[in-house]
Amino acid sequence: MSSRWLRVYLVVAVVAVLGSLAVPDGGPAQTGWQIACGWIGAAGIIIGIRRNRPAVSAPWWLFAIAVAGNSTGILIEAILARIQADPGFPSLADAAYLSFYPAAAAGLILLIHRRTARRDWSSLVDASTLTTGMGLLAWIFMVKPAAMDESIGLIGHIVSVAYPVGDIVLLAMTIRLVLSGSGRNGSFRLMCAALVCFLGGDTIWAVINQLVWEPGPMPHKLLSAVFLGGYLLFGAAALHPDVRSLGRIAAPRPMRFSRSLLLLLTLTSLIGPALLLMQTLQHQVTDGLAIAIGCTALFLLVVTRMSQVLTQLDLQSERVRDLAVTDELTGLPNRRAWNIELPRTIERVRRTGAPMSVAIIDIDHFKLFNDAYGHPAGDRMLKEAAAAWQEQLRTVDHLARYGGEEFVVLLPDATTAQACEVVDRMRLATPLGQTFSAGVATWDGTETSDELTSRADVALYRAKSEGRNRIAEAGPEMAPA
Ligand code: GH3
Ligand code: MG
Ligand code: MG
Repeated sequence: MSSRWLRVYLVVAVVAVLGSLAVPDGGPAQTGWQIACGWIGAAGIIIGIRRNRPAVSAPWWLFAIAVAGNSTGILIEAILARIQADPGFPSLADAAYLSFYPAAAAGLILLIHRRTARRDWSSLVDASTLTTGMGLLAWIFMVKPAAMDESIGLIGHIVSVAYPVGDIVLLAMTIRLVLSGSGRNGSFRLMCAALVCFLGGDTIWAVINQLVWEPGPMPHKLLSAVFLGGYLLFGAAALHPDVRSLGRIAAPRPMRFSRSLLLLLTLTSLIGPALLLMQTLQHQVTDGLAIAIGCTALFLLVVTRMSQVLTQLDLQSERVRDLAVTDELTGLPNRRAWNIELPRTIERVRRTGAPMSVAIIDIDHFKLFNDAYGHPAGDRMLKEAAAAWQEQLRTVDHLARYGGEEFVVLLPDATTAQACEVVDRMRLATPLGQTFSAGVATWDGTETSDELTSRADVALYRAKSEGRNRIAEAGPEMAPA
């Protein structure tokens, strides 16, 4: 669908919402206008499904049912008011209004299921924390008073409890959707805006009822406009071309806590203590049990989240530690690893008295290889050589990349002759017709790791100068002054 159609729809939507503020109060024109907004929103969703063919369409059909059902409630209420002096509570209109919650929640569940590749536990815990906090508020200010209202019968109780419970379920789904995965495109934002309109509108209603304040005509109209905006935003979300990719798997959210999420979780965790403080100051703690349960749940959720963060941090630092001592190209230990391993091995053989040798290997004329076949081929050669040499070594031996085309081998329990034998096997295993020169030095029982390495280095240079493709043994006289 071209974005021109979306623009036309958005113009109609803005006119519809602003127009609702101008329509005369209380008459059939107002009722008709509001129903029209809902039906335009539902029609927008259906046209969006037909034209855009989203990757997953079932959630959008459910959203269309939700919006159409909810706005039809306005029509039923108007008809009931016309044929009955007092339709009472609950009425058939409530059934239509309430149909919004299961339909929208089912749509959101399907969408979340499609968008998350694997269990994203951290966003699940965050969503549970935010929902628990809001649930505690809803319980104390909405659910409990509705359940205790003696002026309504059993059905009345069920219906009046269903509204806040539906809001909490919808809130939980919305938070889960926002927190899990990236892939927040235009359609996603419009859909979230629609949900915020419904949830925000209901919250404002709840606050107004708490204040026992009868809003005048204009605040009433403004509040209605929020819901009408919600209907129309749903339609816009489906008409937006981005809806096609909305149901695709979104990349998981990075582990990092954003500051705003941290602030939100902190404030949510403080809801319980704040309620307790408020009731204590009023000398009437009426919801001690609910607050205690809510606080316990919030506390456990926060601790769970902390332990998740710690586990992820442990894994990450382990990965960083591995990366710091690994050569990226060959996967071998790098020079840093060598500088840790060699002194450690020297200390061990100092105690055991076993022989220990090292070899420095330098590929011959590697610059020519690069010049002839290109640098990427040179990289592949280094990788293949590392793998081929490794096969010639025992598990106790330690092959590392020293830098460039130079490698080092640590051979515990190997005399000079044994070490030369092993390194010669490696030389013959060198792939792609390449050769190397090597210098072998055996620890003399007193020298430092640096001294041992530089004796092997001197021997390597002798091997190079004597014609390459050979192994030279370091003599004691080669140690630098
Ligand atoms: P010699 O026999 O004297 O050792 O000759 P050489 O050409 O091997 O030695 P030189 O020190 O002149 O050049 C080393 C070459 O190794 C140059 C450099 O481009 C290449 N080299 C170093 N690291 C890498 C790498 O990671 N990948 C590739 N492809 N080449 C590398
Ligand atoms: Mg070199
Ligand atoms: Mg070389």
